[in-house]
Amino acid sequence: MTAPKRRFRPATELVHGGTMRSQFAETSEAMFLTQGFVYPDAEAAEARFKGEDPGFVYSRYANPTVAMFEERMCLLEGAEAARGLASGMAAVNAALMSDLKAGDHVVASRALFGSCQYIVADLLPRFGVASTLVDGTDLDAWRSAVRPETRAFFLESPSNPTLELINIAAVAEIARAAGARLVVDNVFATPLFQKPLELGAHTVVYSATKHIDGQGRCLGGVVLSDEDWIEGKLAPFLKHTGPSMSPFNAWVLLKSLETLQVRVERQAASAARIADAIASHPAVLRLYYPGRDDHPQAELARRQMTGGSTMLAVEVAGGKAGAFAVSAALEVVRISNNLGDAKSLVTHPATTTHQRLSDEERAALGIGDGLLRLSVGLEDPEDLVEDLVAALDRARPAEMRAAS
Ligand SMILES: *Cc1c(COP(=O)(O)O)cnc(C)c1O
Repeated sequence: MTAPKRRFRPATELVHGGTMRSQFAETSEAMFLTQGFVYPDAEAAEARFKGEDPGFVYSRYANPTVAMFEERMCLLEGAEAARGLASGMAAVNAALMSDLKAGDHVVASRALFGSCQYIVADLLPRFGVASTLVDGTDLDAWRSAVRPETRAFFLESPSNPTLELINIAAVAEIARAAGARLVVDNVFATPLFQKPLELGAHTVVYSATKHIDGQGRCLGGVVLSDEDWIEGKLAPFLKHTGPSMSPFNAWVLLKSLETLQVRVERQAASAARIADAIASHPAVLRLYYPGRDDHPQAELARRQMTGGSTMLAVEVAGGKAGAFAVSAALEVVRISNNLGDAKSLVTHPATTTHQRLSDEERAALGIGDGLLRLSVGLEDPEDLVEDLVAALDRARPAEMRAAS
């Protein structure tokens, strides 16, 4: 089967795609908050269980509201099939575990979301799946990590928190030559700005908790790939292990998709505006924003992404004290580890999301004590610029202030 046919541009599919109306012809998608389904007779139940009748059986397997969300995600991503899951981590775990067995080997970029790192480096090895973490930007490192038993590659791009890019098409090529599947966690790029399947990835995963909800309410995850793999490998794993997406959360996320493009484009435009406004501020030692020409991989960003990012990171003067002072001085931006939200959020990775890592591991990832990650929200961009500039002004060390 080929990808569901996208008849319209993404913004239109995000509003209408996947809608299944009940006999009441409701305008807004219905929430089917039901565990099971009734059959007109025992013969119908038998046919349903045999797979001869395509209807629903039990919401751990599939649910109409969840199915609408999955179909809308397929149309957005250009994927043949998708499954919604309870959280982004359930999606990452299922995308890997459903396909691997003892004796297999996985290669992953070392700049991973903390829980993804736990799955690859701690959990999989406990079940006999070896893993190697590499510098994802170094194509030779991917090549030389390959073993005869390598079955999967895993990466995130842009990375968290330093927004480093990995050349997805090149890594996909190495994976293909090695007979391995490339799984891309595309959360930081969003489904609007980067299409890993078109770049050669086999599977894409999202934490729908982030931009897809975008309003800080529900956890959710989604795995997208070709129909054979989803039905043959992923679906049985989900059906029997049960990390299902709640129909309630699917409904919230389905409605969120209607506004995804409006939100993400506005958030990315604001992020670019903020990056330009603070790039030469004396308290900013280094700025990381893939949408700017001074990003070390600006050329790759233009090639594999169609937008900058809703995220940016800055190394501020004064190390941890400097970063904490800037965080404390912010009045609009709130301190939180989440991202993709309507509310702008600032994180100090070294003491929160990446505190589990050793000093050496943090250094290898470029996570200094002065690094702050900013997720740009939907506030007026001028308020955000003023908030950041004022916080940087107030927090910069006294000797800098005296010099300027
Ligand atoms: C948040 C996040 C996850 C995990 O998603 P949850 O919905 O919190 O389980 C995985 N990968 C990346 C890159 C994330 O940002």
